[in-house]
Amino acid sequence: MPSDAVDRWGNTVSLSLLQRLRLRVLGRVPIGTRMKEGWKNPIMHYVFKCKLHGLQVDYPHGYREELRCPHCEKVFLAKRAKEAK
Ligand SMILES: [Zn+2]
Repeated sequence: MPSDAVDRWGNTVSLSLLQRLRLRVLGRVPIGTRMKEGWKNPIMHYVFKCKLHGLQVDYPHGYREELRCPHCEKVFLAKRAKEAK
């Protein structure tokens, strides 16, 4: 399993051995807060594994706090845009 993930801003995130173990056991591992334009507060980001695209970085969305793979999301949004036409 690769130990590096790339977030949607192109930054490489390297995981320590402990973080990789936590990722394997818990399915996600916190990597610190990030601040984005338009956000009031910094939000905790996580590394998780997408079955199709490997390690990904995201922050929890919605009340279910789900992490979304940006690559899968792109495919999903493209499909939905096509269907709306
Ligand atoms: Zn994916």
